[in-house]
Amino acid sequence: MRRPIVAGNWKMHGTRADNARLVEELLAGLPDGAAAECLVCPPFVYLQEVGRLVRDTPIQLAAQDVCAEAQGAFTGEVSAAMLKDVGCGFVIVGHSERRWIYHESDQLVARKFAAAQAKSLVPILCVGEQLAEREAGRTEEVVGRQLDVVLELCGVAALRAAVIAYEPVWAIGTGRSATPEQAQVVHAFIRERIGMRDAKVADATRVLYGGSVKAGNAAELFARPDVDGGLIGGASLNAEEFLAILAACGSR
Ligand code: PEP
Repeated sequence: MRRPIVAGNWKMHGTRADNARLVEELLAGLPDGAAAECLVCPPFVYLQEVGRLVRDTPIQLAAQDVCAEAQGAFTGEVSAAMLKDVGCGFVIVGHSERRWIYHESDQLVARKFAAAQAKSLVPILCVGEQLAEREAGRTEEVVGRQLDVVLELCGVAALRAAVIAYEPVWAIGTGRSATPEQAQVVHAFIRERIGMRDAKVADATRVLYGGSVKAGNAAELFARPDVDGGLIGGASLNAEEFLAILAACGSR
């Protein structure tokens, strides 16, 4: 049984005051016995403070990125050890904004994945195709390649301590979500691809959907058999929306 995850990627938004208010509202509205694990991913500079606000609560702390190197002369970078030190349990790697705006290659993303796991952080590996790639019928080729580079470097067993997020680039921040059917097709493909190497790992790996998830479409997306929760951008900045998305995973 895969426990769903709902993770809020705050991206480069917020102030200390905004964060405190958002966390307070989330904690006030979080139900006992939520079906899903709840994560927030604040910007680096706020990790420690948000970590303090969510300590001993059901909200877990995640970072938005990590350096592929362990330590050293890498100005502006943040290491996995540092993220662990301030209380992170998870870290996003390969978000499409990193891949496309900052030109991160599949290989760099795979090294970030490995660097995170070396410090016992759970990587949330983002994969997804651009609109032109989908329209050219290349979705599986692109997503398969992004996944395979990580599997080649780290081995399939590494997915036992990782999460995958399928995020079609054309759906991120656009208000145009994939349909539940489109999401299910790619999630099933991802699971099959992992299953070619290890069926048990494939069955246990949580595959989140991300891309314009809102309170209004979360339940039908999460109802698909291979969709194990969501990575939420814009809607995670609004406590009411985010709590409704969390509630769409049901209770246990
Ligand atoms: C994201 O940034 O990971 C994301 C899914 O954004 P949004 O929900 O705003 O589309």
